[in-house]
Amino acid sequence: MMEVEIKKEIVEEILKLCRFDLIFSGDEDKIVSGSVEEVCGVLIGELKENKIVVEKVRKAENIAKSPFLFEISPHDLYNAYIDAQKEGKEVVGVFHSHPHGSPNPSPLDIKGIKGTGLLWLIVGRELKAFSYDNKLNKIIELKIKIE
Ligand SMILES: [Zn+2]
Repeated sequence: MMEVEIKKEIVEEILKLCRFDLIFSGDEDKIVSGSVEEVCGVLIGELKENKIVVEKVRKAENIAKSPFLFEISPHDLYNAYIDAQKEGKEVVGVFHSHPHGSPNPSPLDIKGIKGTGLLWLIVGRELKAFSYDNKLNKIIELKIKIE
């Protein structure tokens, strides 16, 4: 089974960018998103045989400026590809936040996961990772291994 490997510092950075840094502090009643709009960015790393390794994260502008959807600024996406290439890495995925809290993909997310073929990390009250499996012809949830 395909899994996502990601360092704890990177997860913390993503949560901070998505302004979900209170999530794991314990008191469920205090879990609130600090951002009304969805926050998004690009994940850079390496694709291995049965594993996607996320090594770096880059915030990107959500040009949709919406609480319900995101659209990564083409300029930021381009820069992420250049950045990855310079370091001999790859753009392995994208992340975005769900300020309402559910980490499950919306119908639009499902289209995006299928269309891009990339790893999609969704940040809500928990972290979930999805990708499209060509062989099975469906979207699968990937196991996230935090180191
Ligand atoms: Zn979404």
